[in-house]
Amino acid sequence: METDTCNDPVNVGFSIPARVSRAMKPDTTIVDINGVKAGGSAVVVIAGPCAVESLEQLFETAWAVKNAGAKILRGGAFKPRSSPYSFQGLGEEGLKLLSNIRKETGMPVVTEVMDTRQVELVAGYADMLQIGSRNMQNYPLLKEAGMCRKPILLKRGMMATIEEFLLAAEYILNQGNDQVVLCERGIRTFETTTRNTLDLSAVPMLKRLSHLPVIVDPSHGTGLRWMVPAMAKAAVAVGADGLIMEVHYHPEKAICDGYQSLSLDEFDQLMTDLRKIAIAVEREIL
Ligand code: PEP
Ligand code: MN
Repeated sequence: METDTCNDPVNVGFSIPARVSRAMKPDTTIVDINGVKAGGSAVVVIAGPCAVESLEQLFETAWAVKNAGAKILRGGAFKPRSSPYSFQGLGEEGLKLLSNIRKETGMPVVTEVMDTRQVELVAGYADMLQIGSRNMQNYPLLKEAGMCRKPILLKRGMMATIEEFLLAAEYILNQGNDQVVLCERGIRTFETTTRNTLDLSAVPMLKRLSHLPVIVDPSHGTGLRWMVPAMAKAAVAVGADGLIMEVHYHPEKAICDGYQSLSLDEFDQLMTDLRKIAIAVEREIL
């Protein structure tokens, strides 16, 4: 007799938190980001700069990624930088630019929130709130995000196990917000040639254990522009529900993460290639 191993502690070594568990809710949750649905048959592509830098940068990049097929615009207004001396983001000014571009292009926007005190502010401008890798275990922030009525993009902590990742998502669902998308963005390993080690095996594992949609960030996952297309294609092939990628109109001039950002032409070409991969795994990119 075949048994389902989803909740078998011998197989995964822990019990799956109840609200995120697929055993409790067999159908994949559809997360609705202002009309764009993640978790259905379409692979959702989120693209845009690492940081919002200027109106021109955001405008040029947003229209180009939209025309290439991206459905959601990304861009950080509050940036979690390793150094306190690096550019910290434009703050509310950046949120205003994002909201203006949304009106102009019709594309929903996702941006990071780093602090419980800013959840209301960011939710007032954005269509989806990102909780970044460094904050995956910021429990007050997870709870506050769970109380707000906007979808949440939860990125895997760079040192987090799958169990810790699912427990972090459980915090959000526990507050009544089930509109959560999980994002694999690479973890820290002994390897130094890539910025992180993109754990693509997390995708089928998370999808087996949880009903939440799973997307992949090959930009932070590799830290290398030339490697992003290969890993993006691989992510679609292993069943990701979407991708989030950094794209910049002049990557060489980007204030933040330019070395891992695709140019507009590279992104356009990648979208063409991704459509073929999507068809091969019975998905589509609209
Ligand atoms: C980002 O998306 O720009 C970012 C800072 O991501 P992460 O939290 O995965 O490092
Ligand atoms: Mn970045």
